[in-house]
Amino acid sequence: MTMPTISCEFYPPRDSASRARLIDNVANKLNDTIQPQFFSVTYGAGGSTKDGTRQTVRCLQESGATAVPHLSMGQDDAQDILHMLAEYAKAGITQIVTLRGDQPSGMAARHFHNNAETLVRLIREHTGDRFHLTVAAYPEVHPDSHSAQEDLDFFQRKVEAGANSAITQYFYNPDAYAYFLDHCAKRKIDIPIYPGIMPITNIESLERFSAKAGAEIPRWLLNNLIDQPDETALLDYGVEVVVRLCERLISLGAPGLHFYTLNRWGATVRIARALH
Ligand code: FAD
Repeated sequence: MTMPTISCEFYPPRDSASRARLIDNVANKLNDTIQPQFFSVTYGAGGSTKDGTRQTVRCLQESGATAVPHLSMGQDDAQDILHMLAEYAKAGITQIVTLRGDQPSGMAARHFHNNAETLVRLIREHTGDRFHLTVAAYPEVHPDSHSAQEDLDFFQRKVEAGANSAITQYFYNPDAYAYFLDHCAKRKIDIPIYPGIMPITNIESLERFSAKAGAEIPRWLLNNLIDQPDETALLDYGVEVVVRLCERLISLGAPGLHFYTLNRWGATVRIARALH
């Protein structure tokens, strides 16, 4: 089995001390063991600030790692976005994960003033091919979508607007990815689509994230997780399940694996090492 490339996602820590710990204890550990191609840093997700993304990106770069910021428009206008892009270009950033972003709480669920396609178009219009743009994809269909076909229409529009690659929302059913690739092939969408991998380390947080993201935890998986007698058994079982998932995704032609690390290294390293 040829090992595909690995990338890892962080969210911005709250303060400079936690940021230093993330670099020293997590990023360096991941670099020493599984050498991710890049570390991406989320933007405005889970209450994090925009500045947190910039600062975390800067610290990662200073540590010698390749950093990829996530970016969404939110309430910003085009000038704010262009200013930030200019800063990133100056700092040597070459890739951006381009998103609509999670809606601020209180905003109507279907408010789409600036979706990811708008942002991809804006970036391409003003910066040409300066950045590699990665967009999000949803093999299990985005929760805001009325249908799988509508969701694919929006995905296709982002690609036609100039996206170079995609990372998926996480899922535990490899068939969702297989069918998504088939649908993309039928539409002649040929950018690399990297599956997002969520290691399993805690049932409650997995259920919470999955409910929010619209990711399904299959019944058999949840029941088996609940059956595990203690935390060690849960971690071992979680690694086994996710390794099998990754093996299947690689056999389906996944060009790489993107790990949602939740700022931890243990499970990600175990899974990636088992794949070598
Ligand atoms: P879009 O592609 O713009 O839209 C997603 C879906 O919404 C579409 O497929 C369609 O169903 C519907 N939609 C969009 N526009 C319209 C329209 N005009 N009319 C009707 N329906 C429409 N969130 C964060 O806040 N910060 C992050 O850093 C972050 N990183 C992420 C990284 C990855 C790899 C993934 C998969 C998700 C990430 N998210 C992040 C979550 C993401 O912001 C949410 O899933 C958000 O709800 C959709 O963002 P998007 O870029 O996919 O949106």
